[in-house]
Amino acid sequence: MDILAPDLYDMKILVFFGKPGAGKGTQAALLKENYNLLHISTGDLFRYNIKNQTALGKLAQSYIDAGDLVPDQVTIDMLEAEVEKNPQAEGFIFDGFPRTKAQAEALDTFLTGRNLAVSATIALEASDDILVERLLKRGETSGRSDDQDEQKIRNRFDEYNQKTAPLKRYYEDQGKFHTVDGIGSLEEISARLTTLIDSI
Ligand code: AMP
Repeated sequence: MDILAPDLYDMKILVFFGKPGAGKGTQAALLKENYNLLHISTGDLFRYNIKNQTALGKLAQSYIDAGDLVPDQVTIDMLEAEVEKNPQAEGFIFDGFPRTKAQAEALDTFLTGRNLAVSATIALEASDDILVERLLKRGETSGRSDDQDEQKIRNRFDEYNQKTAPLKRYYEDQGKFHTVDGIGSLEEISARLTTLIDSI
């Protein structure tokens, strides 16, 4: 083995997993500083594109407004382009990606091609009723149409249960699935995540 070559598998690549409102974005924003990771949220990228009325934004808008998932290939291409744009990154937190088995497989292929791999998938857990309450509250200030209507929120949970929840098994089979209790103060949850990430 070439001892001068850095072991790229040492790069921390974390996948934050969990239903809408579980706190993925909030916690990723807190933790990225501590670990010097780049936070990539596919939801934020879509919203940025919608705000700027790009072709991608126009394509994604109707799905997001309805609380449906955006088609896989569109999402995968966007995520890969974002990673490619940041060659200096020392590691990543993927927040809200992958959300389907096709996305998880595409991510593995993409990372393997760069001698990289997901380090861990971390699911933040909270009950649906608490999540609905949090999202409706967030909707009062976020301006997000998908946070303002309980039916759309429940549709996002259905999308999660049908398409995203099966990824638990996918990552368990790779020995990379972890859960963290998502109920508590920001600091408490962040401390739980830090303990877990330090043990990985
Ligand atoms: P989020 O901000 O993560 O709650 O995402 C908001 C919305 O963006 C979702 O309800 C989907 O419509 C879309 N979205 C975000 N990430 C993905 C993804 N990985 N696959 C498909 N759609 C996504």
